[in-house]
This record gives sequence, structure tokens and C-alpha cells, in this order.
Amino acid sequence: MTQLTLFQQKMGALLPQIRLRYQEPMSKHTSFRIGGPAEVMAFPRNVEELGQILKVSKELDVKPIILGAGTNVLAPDEGIAGVVICLKGCLEGMERLGEEAIYVSAGVTMTRAAVFAADLGLSGLEFAHGIPGSVGGGVYMNAGAYGGEICQVCEAVDVMDLDGTLRRCSREEMGFSYRHSGLEDRGGIVTGAVFALEKKDPRQIRDRMRELLAKRSASQPLDMPSAGSAFKRPAGGYAAALIEQAGLKGFSVGGAAISQKHAGFAVNLGGATAADVKELLRQVSDRVYAASGIRLEPEVRIW
Ligand SMILES: Cc1cc2nc3c(=O)[nH]c(=O)nc-3n(C[C@H](O)[C@H](O)[C@H](O)COP(=O)(O)OP(=O)(O)OC[C@H]3O[C@@H](n4cnc5c(N)ncnc54)[C@H](O)[C@@H]3O)c2cc1C
Repeated sequence: MTQLTLFQQKMGALLPQIRLRYQEPMSKHTSFRIGGPAEVMAFPRNVEELGQILKVSKELDVKPIILGAGTNVLAPDEGIAGVVICLKGCLEGMERLGEEAIYVSAGVTMTRAAVFAADLGLSGLEFAHGIPGSVGGGVYMNAGAYGGEICQVCEAVDVMDLDGTLRRCSREEMGFSYRHSGLEDRGGIVTGAVFALEKKDPRQIRDRMRELLAKRSASQPLDMPSAGSAFKRPAGGYAAALIEQAGLKGFSVGGAAISQKHAGFAVNLGGATAADVKELLRQVSDRVYAASGIRLEPEVRIW
């Protein structure tokens, strides 16, 4: 291994029991398969370890970046100085609460949470089956699909502040709106969430999940690296329809292109850089604006 930076040495010394990786390529952790190395990537096994990483980050005066499943981020080509805390596959665990609710830890994928609920005969998370992100990422940005949205079923969220304080926020306190939660403005890390669901015949739940998955595979370029919908749905239209009407299906910049299968998706054709994707999104937004007068805003979080 090449010589560690001073920051890496300090992190390693202060957190001897935590799993850390140095110069870890973000491209290995993002569904776009894009992004240079994170100086330190930390993998907490539980909430206590997450708290320790936050404490040390504060001591070293660095603001950590939170990564879930990496399915909605565009990580920079030059990499990330400081620490990225990866929660996917780390904060795991699900349990039934009473008759009609479940608790899901932040690192569990939304698809696993939906299957867990279905197995219990609990309905409400069918829409989340097939969204590849983690529950933490889904809550943070109020993920949704096919008429369902996290905020419709999320009753409470456990949030750790950057100083390590853990508190439970009600749905109202979360400040949910379209593909947004108040955490984006005030900070905080989702460690888990309570979902209030309804009893239903498990067969009906599974049928609905299968139906939605089939719709996804028929319409989305699931065989290519992407971050899902590249743009938010604008008021008065659909991003994919506006992009298609502007003649931009297949339009490319470097290794990044608008999918031929679904104009709402930007895909990595192979070897795309973050700079390619950013330029693609900028040009598409400008051209759609010129054609329709509607300005598209990226849905993917650009780091
Ligand atoms: C093929 C494909 C299909 C998709 N379909 C949909 C869809 O139908 N609907 C939809 O809404 N999205 C969809 N997405 C996008 C993505 O899966 C969701 O936005 C998902 O909620 C992101 O979760 P993540 O864990 O991957 O978050 P990441 O991409 O890792 O992070 C996204 C943002 O959330 C923050 N974050 C992540 N975890 C936490 C946490 N625990 N606490 C605080 N902040 C956190 C990150 O800092 C970042 O700013 C799709 C993506 C792909 C690739």
C-alpha cells in the first residue's frame, strides 16, 4: 500500500476497531460506476460505531459524507478528501413492531424491506420493491415510485446528528416533500425507520410487487449503470417525455448518454466520467428549456 496521508493515519489510530479502507474507489460503490477514491471509507457495524466515527471526524475537523447504496449519487472524478461513511450492508436488521408496523435499519435495501413486509402479510411498501437504494437513502430523499412514496408509510425515523446524538423524529418533523426531506437542509443521518403498514393477503402483495417489477424491467435500462431518473419530475410534465420530445434520446457526452430505452435515465456507456454526466445533464436541461420553457433539475445528488 502507498504511504497513508496524515489524516488516514489519525483515523486509523483513533478508530482501531472500525473497518476502514483507504483510497477506496467510489466507482466500486455507486450504481453509475463513477467516482475517484475516497481518502477514507468507514463501515460501521452498528450505531455505536457510527457514533464513534462521527466523534473522531469532529475531533479531526472533517465533515463526513454519508453513502447508502450509492444508487442516487454522482461522485467526483477527483475523489473525496476526508471520510465517507458507508451504511449499506452495515446497519442491517428488521423487526416486526406490534401488529401492523416494522422497524428497518438504514443499511437494508428497500427491496429487502418490501419483501420482509410482504412475508408478514403487511402492505404499503410494494412500491419500494425494485428501488435499488437503502432505506436510509430512501428516507433521506423520500424515494417513491408508481404512486407510492416513503413519506406515506414512514411513521418515525431515528436520526443521528453529526455530534452523535440519536433522536426519534416524527413524520411531521422529517419535513418530507417530493424527493426531499428536511434532513437535506439541516443534516443528520438516518439509522432506521418505523413503517406503519396494513394487513393484507400476502398473495395480493406479492402479485403487486411482481407487477411493478415487470413494469420496471420493461421500461428501464436495468442492464446499464445509472442512478435511476436523472431529473426530478417538473411541474406540468414528465422529464422523460420532455427529453424525448426535444429529440434527445441517445444524446451523449463522452461516455454518458440519455438511455435509448428510457429518456429519463442517464446511463454510463462505459468509461463515463462525472464530468461527462454533469455536462450531459447541463446540455439536456438547456435544450429541454429551449424547446419547452420547462427547466429540468437533477434528481441525482451531485457530490
Ligand atoms: C435502476 C434504478 C432505479 C431507480 N428507481 C427509483 C425509483 O423508482 N424511485 C426513486 O425514488 N428512486 C429510484 N432510484 C434512485 C435511488 O435508488 C433512490 O433515490 C434511493 O432512495 C437512494 O438510496 P441510496 O441508499 O442508494 O442513497 P445514496 O445514493 O447512497 O445517497 C443518496 C443521498 O442520500 C444520502 N444518504 C444516504 N443514506 C443516508 C442515511 N442513512 N442518512 C442520511 N443521508 C443518507 C446521501 O448522502 C446522498 O446525499 C433508482 C436508481 C436506480 C439505479
